[in-house]
Amino acid sequence: MALHLRGTVLPDGVVRDLWTLGDRITFQRPAAPAATVADGGFLLPGLVDVHTHPGAAGDSLVFDPDVFAEQIAAHRDAGTTALRFPGLLGEVPAALRDAPDSPRMITAGRWLAWAGLSKSAGFHTVTDDLVALAVAEAKAHDGWCKLLGDWDFEAAPVPCELLRAVVDGVHAAGGRVAAHCQSAEGVLGAARAGVDSIEHGMGMPEESVGLMAAHGTSYVPTLTAFARSAPRIKDNARGRLWHEGHRTMIRRVREAYDAGVTVLAGTDSAPFGNVATEVEHLIAAGLPPETAVGAASWTARTFLGLPTLTEGALADITVYDADPRLEPGTLRHPRRIVLRGRIVR
Ligand SMILES: [Zn+2]
Repeated sequence: MALHLRGTVLPDGVVRDLWTLGDRITFQRPAAPAATVADGGFLLPGLVDVHTHPGAAGDSLVFDPDVFAEQIAAHRDAGTTALRFPGLLGEVPAALRDAPDSPRMITAGRWLAWAGLSKSAGFHTVTDDLVALAVAEAKAHDGWCKLLGDWDFEAAPVPCELLRAVVDGVHAAGGRVAAHCQSAEGVLGAARAGVDSIEHGMGMPEESVGLMAAHGTSYVPTLTAFARSAPRIKDNARGRLWHEGHRTMIRRVREAYDAGVTVLAGTDSAPFGNVATEVEHLIAAGLPPETAVGAASWTARTFLGLPTLTEGALADITVYDADPRLEPGTLRHPRRIVLRGRIVR
């Protein structure tokens, strides 16, 4: 049976009636009877986490399909109906990709590390031919590849010319490039190369902000993960550099927004289904609350090529009692979750 929902539709802020027709929505009352499942409150295009890595228990480097299923279910049950995975330890099981209760998934393949970086981690795929592998990963997945612009924040990053060649190659293949950056030089190189998203951006130099705006590079600071790490950083010279980089990235969130950069919500850490926390960090960093909510909903969906709540759009809807633009904490308590036209809650 079709579902009927009525409430204030965001981001427009207009009270409307909408119905589901299969996995789509319509604002035209269907001929067939419909069950009213929400009357009042605020209707959002389903939440989005654009930086999450489900599929491994704890610190394991082995992809476990059962763990993956559990972790995407945790996202879904929190109202996160679309996910981008900038690096996964394995391939999304085919049965889960289009399962009626699975969030939408945008994959980017593995974490690609250029062999010239001074260090890499066990979960990285190290390669001499970053361009070829990046193009292959973007083609084999959902149009995205994920690479390291740097790794050790005290060591040299990937040369900008190489990153530029990757960007040119991936763009020519119709794909997009997400770059992990956690050093000032790494961020600057990625910004100069015109990658599509900078992930983390620790130590981001001021000069990067204008370059990102000019190139249309989005910023995914993953503040939740850094806030979790901060208390564990040692109080030594390296640790002080880390904290300085952390303070800088927080400052750049607002500066990036002011410059016209799209800032997006990604958690990069457990617990899964925690994008509401990232919204709160973005607000604390100075984003207007409406922008921060959009960073985990309508803006993020547009970034991923998914529709918002428009005629004929995908029926992914979360409903809240309070206006999340005024009370962002309400994002933790969806009253109703509809995914692919089906009721999750
Ligand atoms: Zn990550």
